[in-house]
Amino acid sequence: MESKFDVASIRKHFPILEQKAYGHPLVYLDNAATTQKPRSVVKRIEEAYFSHNANVHRAVHLLSQQATEAHETARVVVQQFINATEPDEIVFTRGTTESINLVAFSFGEAFCREGDEILISSMEHHSNIVPWQLLCERKKMTLKVIPIDDNGCLLVDEYEKLLGPKVKLLAITHVSNVLGIENPIKQIIEKAHKQGVPVLVDGAQAVAHMPVDVRALDADFYTFSSHKVFGPTGVGVLYAKRPFLEQMPPYQGGGEMIDQVHFERTTYNRIPFKFEAGTPDFIGTAALAEALRFIQEIGLDKIADYEKQLVNYALQELSKVEGFQLLGNTPERHAIIPFQLKGIHAYDVGLLLDKLGIAVRTGHHCAQPLMERLSMDSCVRASFAFYNTSIEVDRLQAALKKIYKMFN
Ligand code: PMP
Repeated sequence: MESKFDVASIRKHFPILEQKAYGHPLVYLDNAATTQKPRSVVKRIEEAYFSHNANVHRAVHLLSQQATEAHETARVVVQQFINATEPDEIVFTRGTTESINLVAFSFGEAFCREGDEILISSMEHHSNIVPWQLLCERKKMTLKVIPIDDNGCLLVDEYEKLLGPKVKLLAITHVSNVLGIENPIKQIIEKAHKQGVPVLVDGAQAVAHMPVDVRALDADFYTFSSHKVFGPTGVGVLYAKRPFLEQMPPYQGGGEMIDQVHFERTTYNRIPFKFEAGTPDFIGTAALAEALRFIQEIGLDKIADYEKQLVNYALQELSKVEGFQLLGNTPERHAIIPFQLKGIHAYDVGLLLDKLGIAVRTGHHCAQPLMERLSMDSCVRASFAFYNTSIEVDRLQAALKKIYKMFN
């Protein structure tokens, strides 16, 4: 595969990729689960702990001011990364899961009543299913599900039929974590807004692979996890339009989120702090900002182009493997190749690939309802990042050929 993208230079920033696994050079193809970290991100964590570690927002002393500045600068970096209107629309959480739970609870409290409906799709991660089930149980509401076709694509006509007057919110993934399919989010949001329905977009599998502009999409809520975008674990982002954040009640109580506390009555801090109870992961947010700077320097357009080329090459090469069966058929595929090897359990394929130094994920990928819809209990998922190479694809192809031969 010919490419102008300088992947060799990029890989030098990721020491973990130089490792061997069972004597083979490591091929890391589990990026949808979590991404590897460039040196600059880990260095930023060290620098923060060694030079300005102090709790944020509270003290007048120098270290605290520096830590606060790093944390609040990170908010601006995130705001600019997804083109939000203002930093106040960025709430830091522990991850996509917490971001969605926050909305399910607080939006649910502010805007949902018995008999209302929440709309999701058949391809959601459990994190974008269970919080809505909990809300529906709590408020005696109904969860409605947009169906998909056999290729895994959303049935847009069915979606429109489901957009009735009782729907209070649509929660949908930008890119499927199993199929890699990108949903036509802009059109989906337009249709929802015509019916007055706000939309939460789960961007966990999108932000590392394409430029995301929440204002161009007109998303009402957008969520993602730092660890899937080359940042540290334990940090997540919830973007929400100001009027929603203003009207939604706090999700958790504690320090930071208050204005005044009296035993008789407590008033809350302004947004976004109203939603950030307790000490935030201020070292993590500074490191997330570093990760976002790292990929912005490379350019998300360039990353998207390279990954598209790499995934197309992989699809072409893997389809030459006897027994290779691709799941989901769409031209709008991002960085994920889900498959089965005919007659061989996905778990066996994953185990044998591991012994050949290739890390992939097997199982239901936290999307059991989707697997049920596709009539299977597990599949293998090879998921890519911009540091993966065509040589690694060749290694995967050779390994799969070998495994297929072993079983046949
Ligand atoms: N949504 C999607 C689409 C995901 O892929 C994931 C992680 N696999 C999540 C939500 C949950 O992310 P986290 O575990 O970082 O909260």
